[in-house]
Amino acid sequence: VIEMRAVTKSYSNFKALAGIDLDVARGERIVICGPSGSGKSTLIRCINGLETFDGGSITVDGIAIGNSTRNLDKVRQEVGMVFQHFNLFPHLTVLQNLMIAPMKNRGKTRAEAEKLARHYLERVRISDHAHKMPSQISGGQQQRVAIARALCMEPQIMLFDEPTSALDPEMIKEVLDVMVELAREGMTMVCVTHEMGFARSVASQVIFMDKGQIVERNTPEEFFSNPQHERTKAFLQQVI
Ligand code: ATP
Ligand code: MG
Repeated sequence: VIEMRAVTKSYSNFKALAGIDLDVARGERIVICGPSGSGKSTLIRCINGLETFDGGSITVDGIAIGNSTRNLDKVRQEVGMVFQHFNLFPHLTVLQNLMIAPMKNRGKTRAEAEKLARHYLERVRISDHAHKMPSQISGGQQQRVAIARALCMEPQIMLFDEPTSALDPEMIKEVLDVMVELAREGMTMVCVTHEMGFARSVASQVIFMDKGQIVERNTPEEFFSNPQHERTKAFLQQVI
């Protein structure tokens, strides 16, 4: 459902992506790890057009991401994204945060949007906080709201960029639990994370990136027990 071919991206003369080939099938759960600056965020942001790329091609659900804003709009409808910093609208309540995009971009009525929002708040176990402002709930709760907000757009694919790395340790699990449930329900997911426990239990494939390239891609069993490349081994020694 995602196809990246020889994707390159440079910032002035620095190659952030140096030829990425990546296929993600429907229902797959890809975990991407790698050192800081290796291009993980750039890669994931290219998938929903938050970042432009210079060379190669990206297709999402059969739609080519190119210069056409029309295609980009279509792709963004299929792809939900959750960031490290939750990026909730601070001046809206939790419930309003979830309702705004379905009303604006999906043509939902207020009643439909509210029904959808309450459904997903229930799913991430935040229903009790629907009328609070984001600043009145914990980081872990805010991140679960961000996940629910993305799900309200009923995406085919969910992208996560280090969703737990801004959280206190005791809140990490509540966010990972929601992600594990999503995976069990068959959501196609691409997650940048250094939560190796999550990768082990949920990933269909783990990818290691370094210097703008995919160095290694394997099942979690193989990836952790039998890493092929020196750079992967060195990285795993640091994070595990
Ligand atoms: P981290 O683990 O720190 O989040 P990352 O693997 O997500 O790192 P990217 O954010 O994709 O890395 O960045 C890849 C490289 O591109 C980095 O060296 C970064 O400095 C560079 N880069 C990213 N965005 C820009 C930008 N807007 N302008 C210039 N260079 C950038
Ligand atoms: Mg990053």
